[in-house]
Formats: sequence, C-alpha cells, structure tokens
Amino acid sequence: MTRTLILASNNTGKLKEFSELLAPAGFDLHAQGKFNVPEADEPHCTFIENALEKARHAARITGLPALADDSGVCANALGGAPGVLSARYAGEPKSDARNNRKLIADLAVQTDKSAYYYCVLVFVRHANDPQPVIADGRWNGEIIATPRGQGGFGYDPHFWLPVLGKTAAELSAEEKNRLSHRGQALRMLVEKLR
Ligand code: IMP
Repeated sequence: MTRTLILASNNTGKLKEFSELLAPAGFDLHAQGKFNVPEADEPHCTFIENALEKARHAARITGLPALADDSGVCANALGGAPGVLSARYAGEPKSDARNNRKLIADLAVQTDKSAYYYCVLVFVRHANDPQPVIADGRWNGEIIATPRGQGGFGYDPHFWLPVLGKTAAELSAEEKNRLSHRGQALRMLVEKLR
C-alpha cells in the first residue's frame, strides 16, 4: 500500500533525494507547495524543535502525514554556531558567499577549525502525533579558508574531509549522499518507518 506523505519544504533537490529512498518504502512524497502550505516559522534555537514545528505545520494544514528536515553546519570552537542560523549566518538577504566569509572570519582567531554538518528529520502521522519518528545524522570535517570544488551548495567548498583529502564540494552527488548528514538521517528514518 502506498501512503501519501507531505514534505515540509519546496526544495526540488530534497524532494528528489528523499523520494528515491522513501518510494521503495511505500511513501508517495509531495512538496508542501502543491497543497498551498505557506513556509512555517523556524523560531527555535535547536534543529529538532524547528523540524518538529515545520512537520506539524504541514500536517495541520494538509491533514496528511508530514516529513520535515532541519540542518546546518556547527563549528566546535563557536559553541555550535552557525547551527540553526546556517542559512542566514551573515544576515538577510541570505547569501552563501557572505555566510562563508563570516564563518571563516569567526574561525580565523580559533585554532580548532573542526566542524560538523547536522541534519534531523521528523515524521508525524498527524499534527498532534504524540510519538513523532525522529532520525538524525552528523558528518564531521574541518573549515578551510580557501574554497575547493564546484559541487554541492552552501558551506561545501570550505568543508574539508581530512580522510578523503577533499571538500564536500569535490564529491559526486552519489558520494555525498552516501556520507552526508542528510543521507545518514534519511537511511535511519527509512529503517524506522519500515
Ligand atoms: P536547510 O535545513 O536545508 O534549510 O539548510 C540550512 C542551511 O544549512 C543551508 O542553507 C546551508 O547553509 C547549510 N547546509 C545544510 N546542509 C548543507 C550541506 O549539505 N552542504 C552545505 N551547506 C549545508
């Protein structure tokens, strides 16, 4: 039996990436925009609270089960910043170039350049679901000042993977999905939903 599931995002890349793993598990994923769901607020200081807020919002408006994600990059020397502010670290309007410049400037005075990407996924059967299904993933690396690679998005050209000797922007899409915080979280979620 196939179950309709709303993705609390309008990002077509995410829709495709998530559908590829969720379709074989019996879920027919649709972007929330198709159901006229406006963007939810993300007022919280933790990834999990924001993801839960987005999933509940989509489920409340559509009356259908919903899936939301929240992710970002966290530098250890900065107490986990940019964290939930990753998309707008350098303020409005959001800009990857300015975000990267700010992160590199903030870390310039720090010796510890270690950082990690984090992603949390939340699935709710309905808006008041007392038992959301939660999965997460973490991908460790370091922030380097000089960008490398053309792939990925966001902080990827500065996210160095010492074991691979590459940045995340130098990986193929398949390689990134296999290793990334989002890939890990998605596989954990599919396991739990099965
Ligand atoms: P969102 O959860 O998709 O809104 O992502 C929040 C922000 O975190 C993005 O705008 C990026 O700045 C950053 N981010 C999350 N995942 C990645 C990634 O895989 N590569 C680069 N940046 C990321």
